[in-house]
Amino acid sequence: MSCHQRPFGVLRSAFLILGAWLLSACGEDAAETKTSLNVFGTMVELTIRGVDTETAEHAVAELSADFRRMHKDWHAWKPGGELGKLNKALREGRALEVSPFLLPLVHRAKIFHEQSEGLFNPAIGGLVSIWGFHADDRPKGRIPDKAAIRRLVEADPTMDDVRIEGARVSSANTAVHFDFGGFAKGAALDRAAARLKEMGIENAILNAGGDINVLGRHGNRPWRAGIRHPRHWGVIATIELNGGEGLYTSGNYERYREYEGVRYTHIIDPRDGMPVNHIVSATVIHPDGALADAAATALSVAGPSDWVRIARRMGVVYVMLIDENGAVYMTREMQRRIVFKGDPPDDIFVAPDRADG
Ligand code: AMP
Ligand code: MG
Repeated sequence: MSCHQRPFGVLRSAFLILGAWLLSACGEDAAETKTSLNVFGTMVELTIRGVDTETAEHAVAELSADFRRMHKDWHAWKPGGELGKLNKALREGRALEVSPFLLPLVHRAKIFHEQSEGLFNPAIGGLVSIWGFHADDRPKGRIPDKAAIRRLVEADPTMDDVRIEGARVSSANTAVHFDFGGFAKGAALDRAAARLKEMGIENAILNAGGDINVLGRHGNRPWRAGIRHPRHWGVIATIELNGGEGLYTSGNYERYREYEGVRYTHIIDPRDGMPVNHIVSATVIHPDGALADAAATALSVAGPSDWVRIARRMGVVYVMLIDENGAVYMTREMQRRIVFKGDPPDDIFVAPDRADG
């Protein structure tokens, strides 16, 4: 088995929590182990360097169990997990005491919502559901009724409706339905990376279908990652990541439905309840993976007209967006780090530095 990075691909093989894992010591470097975990409907590749196989195996077993719990208890639409119970309680107008495993996500959801001027709104699970994305398989057939979408938008569920008193979570609006899918992967990889560090693992890369957290370095060089190409299989650019950084990309192409030749993505604009159509992908790098993940989703909604302001408000500096015509929008900081594969795109718009306004 090769130890090189595979091209990034999302294997959405149902919501199986854990497939068989493969652990290998690579010929050219016995201190690198590579494992594939089937979590969150995505293949998470975990590469650990610099520890013996036993330590790596132990880490993998722990992480698998933890991922399984996150999958169950952070799940937006399958009953039985803690978030499912919380959603049921809020729908029925009841408050619920939640565990320390879930509570930080509710707190962060409120913060991201506020910072993104409401464009990142994890209370719109009802809209995500009506568009058919609360299902394992790609939705098919007619798109939802305009009136049904309007009713949900007018019910206006937001994180401002949500009250947190100690561990008690309640909502003034029964239309609030939490869906943390916009930052759960980041929160999960942050947790996993922190756990690896606690176990004394200093050099590792966690790659969930192109969303990545890294620890330390790859031997005597930084970890290198690819940013997925929004249109073709493969990567549009590569970038070196510093230890502790996360790289997150949101894309229209990731999950979508098609009806009468139009593609409707799983990223919904809370203002009109419609899937966003202006941005093809948004990439963010930040040491806080949950923030990077949330920001990538928020900036997909913000689009070319508002991304600079929202990125600043969310406190993310390394940002790149690609629109449906292939034009690239990015910060100067991102431009300095990124290396395009092949010819750079024809249209590249670089945001003015903060100092310029
Ligand atoms: P990501 O792939 O990180 O961009 O997350 C997309 C997921 O976030 C969707 O599948 C929904 O579960 C959720 N989502 C969709 N629209 C929004 C939004 N405007 N704010 C927050 N979460 C959203
Ligand atoms: Mg996201």
